[in-house]
Amino acid sequence: MEKFEGKAIFKGVAIGRIMFYGKKENIVKRFKIEDTAAEIERYDKARKEAIEQLKKLHDDAVKKVGEENAAIFEVHAMLLEDDDFNDSVHNMIENEEVNAEYATAVTGENFSKMFAEMEDEYFKARSADMKDISERVISVLSGKDTTATFDQPVIIAADDLMPSETVQLDKDKVLAFVTKFGSANSHTAILARTMNIPALINIPVDPSWDGRMAVVDGHTGTFYLDPDEEIIHEMTAKQDKDLEERRLLQELKGKDNVSVDGRKINLYANIGGLKDLASVLANDGGGVGLFRSEFLYIGRDSMPTEEEQFQAYKAVAQTLAGKKVIIRTLDIGADKQADYLHLDKEDNPALGFRAIRICLTRPEIFKTQLRAIYRASAYGTISVMYPMITSTEEVEEIKKISAAVRAELSADGVPFGNVEEGIMIETPAAAIISDELGRMVDFFSIGTNDLTQYTLAMDRQNDKLDRFYNPHHPAVLRLIQKVIENGHAGGAWVGICGELGADTSLTETFLQMGVDELSVSPSMILPVREAIRKSYAGKDTKSCCFSQEEQI
Ligand code: PEP
Ligand code: MG
Repeated sequence: MEKFEGKAIFKGVAIGRIMFYGKKENIVKRFKIEDTAAEIERYDKARKEAIEQLKKLHDDAVKKVGEENAAIFEVHAMLLEDDDFNDSVHNMIENEEVNAEYATAVTGENFSKMFAEMEDEYFKARSADMKDISERVISVLSGKDTTATFDQPVIIAADDLMPSETVQLDKDKVLAFVTKFGSANSHTAILARTMNIPALINIPVDPSWDGRMAVVDGHTGTFYLDPDEEIIHEMTAKQDKDLEERRLLQELKGKDNVSVDGRKINLYANIGGLKDLASVLANDGGGVGLFRSEFLYIGRDSMPTEEEQFQAYKAVAQTLAGKKVIIRTLDIGADKQADYLHLDKEDNPALGFRAIRICLTRPEIFKTQLRAIYRASAYGTISVMYPMITSTEEVEEIKKISAAVRAELSADGVPFGNVEEGIMIETPAAAIISDELGRMVDFFSIGTNDLTQYTLAMDRQNDKLDRFYNPHHPAVLRLIQKVIENGHAGGAWVGICGELGADTSLTETFLQMGVDELSVSPSMILPVREAIRKSYAGKDTKSCCFSQEEQI
């Protein structure tokens, strides 16, 4: 038996055989072709079949992992419709009298290199896609199947997994994911969470492991290769315990989010779109504490219209039937890009032109979104919150724009509800002036993902910083405490919607700090409810994580 320590990115235990998921590259040979017209026709037929495959993969993937993760197949289908790519293959077949496989492989390679050298990050990322699509067409041309199939459930081991690869795997046949590369924010991590599958990264996987028995312990990050009887016995018991815990959590449905000493808070869910609502309801979410509206804007060619947005927000409000839905206005920029906005490439995108800075610079975008949000508010309980705030001036400007939108709607006789207005506290600047900001808004929602990144000056996407990145850093916790106190003093209620809100080792601390709401991913609602029900909110019952004298 061999034992490896990696990093757990999703909890749970899996016991089973390994399937090493290697990249299957086609070996392409060059032939001389006499009938070039027939060869071009053969290429076009294969290309169309590849597009059909991609459309089917997209539809299957939407059901398994949602629209956002499935979008990659639409991108690939679009790339295969591209005239430049197809003209290049046609020209090579005709001028060089070569076979379609060879012309596709060379074109794929050339386009991939060309994209890799581009400045724009979006186009750079298309480099791997060009290789991917040419491989797919070559597979069709040579009659090979590109999808991995297996009868028994397996532990998938790979160097890394792309969403396009992962979503092709049958969810019921995957026991766990184990990869060599990837960060906690990697595609593997996101998909493992969406699919509810234990996952480890930083394990030195090797193709020779294929077919061997293994155990994945997603609680500790441990991987056992060829486990002995004792480990299998121990891990089976751990699995049984997990099952029992999940069963017990179901019993918490319908119960209050109340601490042992009687403090009740709201427990809401974070969503990216309509597809996540089923999970919010299944896990008994009290509402939506963060609707990341930018997912309506990305992965498409043009700006969503006011009507499209209105329909989406209205559907969420109606489905949640009066429960609170907090819509965060467009938080685009940095890692979330939309080509049609034509944003410049920046040296420090996380510190750049993003979120509210775009909305205040291009008020037509902002007003369209606010009109849609206010119109939808007639159909449920909608609140709005603004991301990446750093100053009181920004909040004043936002409030003027939202007042103008309300006045316009009233003048047009369009109904709208009573919409609470809040801001995200995710910059140290906003946290430090939260006393002033608290008097200007109805609520704060602390975005700990960005607040941690900006407080520690550590890029949240950079996996090399994992060992330095400490979300429990006292600087972050003290800022959170200060924000809660200042919010309350100013008359605003205060929630947490960053990932730290779901960290059950901090639930009691947050209650003791006086937090009013936690918003977490749908699958974490019941575990956090359980933690709340075991906690003491009274500061004198148990001491908080640091002394009250320690102030920023
Ligand atoms: C945050 O920064 O904590 C947050 C919730 O926003 P996002 O993760 O979308 O940046
Ligand atoms: Mg954020």
